[in-house]
Amino acid sequence: MSLASTNPELSENTVAPETLTDGFHLLIDALKLNGVETIYNVPGIPITDLGRYAQREGIRVLSFRHEQHAGYAASAAGFLTKKPGVCMTVSAPGFLNGLTALANATTNCWPMILISGSSEREVVDLMQGDYEEMDQLAIAKPLCKAAYRILHAEDIGIGVARAIRAAVTGRPGGVYLDIPGSLLGQTMDAIEGKNSLVKVIDPAPKQLPAPDAVARAIDVLKSAKKPLIIMGKGASYVQADDVVRELIEKSGIPYLPMSMAKGLLPDTHPQSASAARSLVLKETDVVLMLGARLNWLLSHGKGKQWGAPHSKKFIQIDIEPKEMDSNVEIAAPLVGDVESCAQALIDAMGADWEKPSADWTGAIRAKVDGNIQKMASRLQNNSVPMNYHSALGVIKKVFEDHPDTILVNEGANTLDFARSIVDMHKPRKRLDVGTWGVMGVGMGSAVAAAVETGCPVIAVEGDSAFGFCGMEIETICRYDLPICVVIFNNNGIYRGDDENLSGGDDPATTAFVKDSRYEKMMEAFGGVGIYATSPDDLKRGILTALKTGKPTLINAIIDEAAGKESGNIGSLNPQSIVAQTRAAEAEGN
Ligand code: ADP
Ligand code: MG
Repeated sequence: MSLASTNPELSENTVAPETLTDGFHLLIDALKLNGVETIYNVPGIPITDLGRYAQREGIRVLSFRHEQHAGYAASAAGFLTKKPGVCMTVSAPGFLNGLTALANATTNCWPMILISGSSEREVVDLMQGDYEEMDQLAIAKPLCKAAYRILHAEDIGIGVARAIRAAVTGRPGGVYLDIPGSLLGQTMDAIEGKNSLVKVIDPAPKQLPAPDAVARAIDVLKSAKKPLIIMGKGASYVQADDVVRELIEKSGIPYLPMSMAKGLLPDTHPQSASAARSLVLKETDVVLMLGARLNWLLSHGKGKQWGAPHSKKFIQIDIEPKEMDSNVEIAAPLVGDVESCAQALIDAMGADWEKPSADWTGAIRAKVDGNIQKMASRLQNNSVPMNYHSALGVIKKVFEDHPDTILVNEGANTLDFARSIVDMHKPRKRLDVGTWGVMGVGMGSAVAAAVETGCPVIAVEGDSAFGFCGMEIETICRYDLPICVVIFNNNGIYRGDDENLSGGDDPATTAFVKDSRYEKMMEAFGGVGIYATSPDDLKRGILTALKTGKPTLINAIIDEAAGKESGNIGSLNPQSIVAQTRAAEAEGN
């Protein structure tokens, strides 16, 4: 931009404003120079004008109702675009609200930058009680990949460059950038200011695996009788879809996609072992991990789910060297980026690569076909009230017919059932609760998905999960985004029929108001509200939403007794002495 000339707000007592620029404009110019096109924002002191000016300078600035959701949107944008998603907040409380999302982005290995205004350093450091006083930099540090503070206008260029590189290079993650309010008003010579900006060259350089590590991986892979590939969201993130597909298809190895790797190859691909997950985890002898971690989501690579102890060898492709051996021994670590490592394996497999035996792939196929068939009739049940299967049967079909639509998904049972029932047909079409299993990411993810991709979005939300972010439907209506929120309303958390153990009048701790009319919330902001009691209602509602592109909320009534405690992860709940005794008795019987 033409710096000071478009900046009437430069303080009036400066001598020659046309030759000056200020912190506001340097920050905006630095972001623009590095390709930032969108900021997910909540205005307030001291960043209100920063948002205004950014909008004037051509950045799309989307204002949210709460910083956590602006932050979740920024992190989802980072995942979808491979560029850091930027969230902007006010000081102390706004910063803390945004920090949850920044920590979540870091946990998910997604690039994001949280820019928060902060109060005067001199006052904060002497703890003299400033407006929204907080040592934000110190608090952010342990919760993100890197944290920086810029004190002088001439350092804005380098500060922004550091933040961008830190967010995307190596293992991506969240970066905090602390902007004391006084920085924004600092002025400096416009030409010097322009020269102080830094464009980040090659922010995430290729990282090639070492040739001996590739040879070792191939040796281990060749020794396998029952090989398996597990792809994670790291493999989705890299946007090397063709190379990943070539590795899978050339190797002939069955694969399991983790939740957000679904669709990297279509879930209906003949090598997908999703519907035979228990079988393959138990039986496999060599596992190739592709941008996925052996964390709690995979029982840490050991335990009952994985069959006989020490019966597996792991090959792991990851850009983060420290990820190796985090949970079990990695027989063949391949440190590098997914694309380079996958390409190196493809090249090393050569022309005479032997695909896995038909014994192994045939047994998996038989299990997959059997399980899919068993499921089919449950998905077509038309009775009222709906259960998870009948409602998701409708949604599965919608995604078959509209594969470009993005699915946002959160909840307990709503998440678990949707993940296994609804096939994804294209890469990066599924956004969910991620590595933490965090609730409340839905509306932020939906906004980012619509804004960053232009594709329609269907957000399948448990009624509880929706409650954490529901106010953002105003944001959805304000920007008129093609988002259809489907609430699986079963009157509560896990189930709606729980009872107060004291016998008292208060509802159970997990119960909500029965028959809540969530669709009216959407109507309040000018969107379309639909009350759906049957699979037909649901189908009609979604198809209309897709056709019109109007913000829509479908209140889908689900049998309140259909869910189970904590969905598929009930075993993570600590057991009280009463429950332990009951379990022991049950086992004895
Ligand atoms: P999931 O939850 O789907 O299993 P995770 O988030 O646990 O996936 O794992 C993703 C992994 O991908 C992380 O260990 C991260 O370091 C890795 N990763 C991210 N980007 C790249 C990349 N460009 N190349 C290789 N690995 C990557
Ligand atoms: Mg519920």
